Amino acid sequence: MRVAVFSTKSYDKTYIDAANAGHHQLVYLESRLDETTVSTVAGAEAVSVFVNDVLDARVIALLSERQVKLIALRCAGFNNVDLEAARLHGITVARVPEYSPHSVAEHAVALMLSLNRKIHRASARVREGNFSLEGLMGFDLYGKTIGLIGTGKIGLCVTKIMAGFGCRILAFDPVPNQQCIEAGARYVSLQELLRNSDIISLHCPLTPQTHHLIDEHAIAVMKAGVMLINISRGAVIDTRAIIQGLKSGVIGSLGLDVYEEEENLFFRDLSSTVIHDDVFARLLTFPNVIITGHQAFFTHEALTEIANTTIANISAYEQTGNASYPVSSDRIV
Ligand code: NAD
Repeated sequence: MRVAVFSTKSYDKTYIDAANAGHHQLVYLESRLDETTVSTVAGAEAVSVFVNDVLDARVIALLSERQVKLIALRCAGFNNVDLEAARLHGITVARVPEYSPHSVAEHAVALMLSLNRKIHRASARVREGNFSLEGLMGFDLYGKTIGLIGTGKIGLCVTKIMAGFGCRILAFDPVPNQQCIEAGARYVSLQELLRNSDIISLHCPLTPQTHHLIDEHAIAVMKAGVMLINISRGAVIDTRAIIQGLKSGVIGSLGLDVYEEEENLFFRDLSSTVIHDDVFARLLTFPNVIITGHQAFFTHEALTEIANTTIANISAYEQTGNASYPVSSDRIV
C-alpha cells in the first residue's frame, strides 16, 4: 500500500522502516498534514500522522477527494481527528492504543522529582561553580497526597510508581480502574481531589468534557503550593489561568510536556528564532516551571511499538479492509 507518512523525523523513519521491512511503499514527509499540505498525499491510499497534524472536516474531505481510505495515527490520542467527518467519507481511522504507558508515566514522575528537588536549577548552579543550597529545598514525597485525574493505562503506571514512594493516592475518573484500587488509589470527587492533593497529575484524554478542566475555578480550590503536572494534552488546562495561579502562589510548581498551542512550537528547532507566543514565553520566565516538548513517549520501547502497531494497522487494512485498532465516533477498540 502507498502511504504518505507526515510529520516524520529521522528517528521515526528509522523505526518505521525497520517495522515495514520494505512491505508498504512509504513516502516520508517532514511537513505536518493540514489544508496547505494535503495535496502532497498524491497517489497514497493511506496517510500516517502524529499528534499535531490537523485532520479537521475540511482536510478529511480533501483526503477523500484524493481517494485516501485510511488514517493511521502514530499515537494513542485522536483529539486532532474529526471522527464524524471520517465516518461520513468512509475513511477508516486507526491508532496505537498502547505503546508504552511506562514511558509516559516515568516522564511524569521525572517532572515531579525534578520540580520538587529543583534539579534544573541545581544543575545550572553547579556548572557555574555555585554550590549554595539557598532556594533548593524540596519535600519528602513519602506521606504526601497525589491526585491523579484519569486512571487508564498511564494513570495506572503512575499509581504504582507513586505507591512505591509511599504517597497517598486520590483518583478521579468516570470509569474507575480496579487495578488502581488494588495498587492503593482511592476514588474521590474531582473537588475532593483538587482540595486535598499536594501534587496533581493529569492523565485523561482531551475531550469536550476535559477541555480546560483545570481553570480558574479548579485552581481556586487547590491547596496553596500544589504541584501541577500535565503530560496529557495542552488544552486540558487553561494556560492563562495557570499563569495567574503561579503568580498568586497557589500553584507552587508546574511541569508540562504538552501545551495548548504546541503545534506552532514543538518538534522543531526554533533556537535561532524569536518565540512569538507571549503566553508560552511568560511560562518560561517562572523558576518553578519545567517544560519539555512533548517527549514523554520518547523511548526506544515506545517508538518500536508505535512503528510495529502502525504497520500492523496498515497491513490489516490492506488485507481485510479493517485496521487492527480502529477508532470511530461511536466505538473505540
Ligand atoms: P487511557 O484511555 O488508557 O486512559 C484515559 C483515562 O482517562 C480513562 O480511564 C478515561 O476513563 C479517563 N477519562 C476520560 N474522561 C475523563 C474525565 N473527564 N475526567 C477524568 N478522567 C477521564 O489513555 P492513556 O493511554 O492512559 O493516555 C491518557 C492520555 O495521555 C492520552 O489520551 C493522551 O492525550 C496522553 N498521552 C500523552 C503522551 C505524551 O507523550 N505526552 C503520550 C501518550 C498519551
